[in-house]
Amino acid sequence: MDLRETDEQRAVREEYGAWLTDFLPADYDDRYADYRWDISLRRAHQVAAFEAGWLQPAWPTEHGGRSLGPLEALTVRLESATRAAPKLPNIQGVGVVAPGLRAFGTPEQIERLLVPVLRGDEWWALGMSEPGAGSDFAGLRTKAVRDGDRYIVNGQKIWTTQAHESRWATLYVRTDPDAPKHRGISCLILDMQSPGVTVRPIRMATITDETFCEVFLDDVEVPTSALLGVENAGWQVAMASLDHERDMIWIMNWVEIGRGLRAVRQHGGGLDDQQLVELGRRLADAEALRMTGYRSLTNSLRGDPGKEFFILKLLGSEALQRTWDLAATVAGPAGLGDEALAFERHDALAATLYGGTSEVQRNIIGERVLGLPKG
Ligand SMILES: Cc1cc2nc3c(=O)[nH]c(=O)nc-3n(C[C@H](O)[C@H](O)[C@H](O)COP(=O)(O)OP(=O)(O)OC[C@H]3O[C@@H](n4cnc5c(N)ncnc54)[C@H](O)[C@@H]3O)c2cc1C
Repeated sequence: MDLRETDEQRAVREEYGAWLTDFLPADYDDRYADYRWDISLRRAHQVAAFEAGWLQPAWPTEHGGRSLGPLEALTVRLESATRAAPKLPNIQGVGVVAPGLRAFGTPEQIERLLVPVLRGDEWWALGMSEPGAGSDFAGLRTKAVRDGDRYIVNGQKIWTTQAHESRWATLYVRTDPDAPKHRGISCLILDMQSPGVTVRPIRMATITDETFCEVFLDDVEVPTSALLGVENAGWQVAMASLDHERDMIWIMNWVEIGRGLRAVRQHGGGLDDQQLVELGRRLADAEALRMTGYRSLTNSLRGDPGKEFFILKLLGSEALQRTWDLAATVAGPAGLGDEALAFERHDALAATLYGGTSEVQRNIIGERVLGLPKG
């Protein structure tokens, strides 16, 4: 792949960059630490990006895009991440739910639900993990029993980000208890206001506005028209929806590693030899991540997703964690009072858990990339 920017990419980057500059307050860069948590600004940014076609650049205008090609769309994402554009308030809505709705939704579901999630008017939660079924997602036990034109759902979800503020959830349930684990799961669109849904936020140990919740489901009635995709093919809905998230995660990780490296320089007046070696390793990781990301994209453009895709999550999340660890180490005791540094370090800890833990990523790489026998 030729990594030089094409004329089309440059034009898109400049147009998007100018739009972002116009949108953001003039002191955004200087006061980023405050604006980062400004929910009004973040909501306004999502609506404006949707209307200007920068939200999902590869999608058509009515779905928040400009029908850009994959390279130009990547350029927009990189520019957005590099400029630290305001984070979407309900990121899983745009990053995971919306692609799933477009791919698997009925025309009625798309018509009713897609634009509100893209504009951020209606937030969504992802009802996947359960106590005892996190990494082993296929082992989920929440069950839905069909009764005429509705399902009766019973069970429990956990780690459901923003469930307490969400209007809807993609709820993964077991609809065929006799089928092999992967084949008996369906995805339902759950109206979070349905009777029988109880949401309990979990107290967080870190600064965040992405509170986890437990969600309890007691005899909840869900109409069969709220099935997303085909009954018992929920596994495919989950995997396809998460692929989009994984495509975005490496870019986010790469940019955040860059910020971490700048923090190392800012805090580390005189790095010792060991820290210099660590710094060199992290710089190499960042470059390896970018190259692997591009290689993965090249493969997709050629019609074969390739195997690099499986490496990106593990490499990006672990390099991110190590970078912020290094920043904290070089800052020493002075770093203890630095709230932004503490936040980044805590936030990086989560990166090796969500979207599949590092151990599970290593299993996947072992089996699918290296062809090792299943453990
Ligand atoms: C910031 C964040 C946001 C999240 N948001 C959501 C959300 O919105 N919705 C949702 O449904 N979930 C969400 N999750 C949950 C996330 O998907 C799970 O935490 C993750 O899948 C791991 O599951 P678990 O926590 O149950 O850990 P477990 O699966 O119980 O794993 C515990 C430990 O055992 C290891 N392990 C497990 N199985 C294996 C194996 N086969 N081989 C080797 N090691 C193994 C794991 O790596 C881990 O270290 C979120 C998590 C985080 C951190």
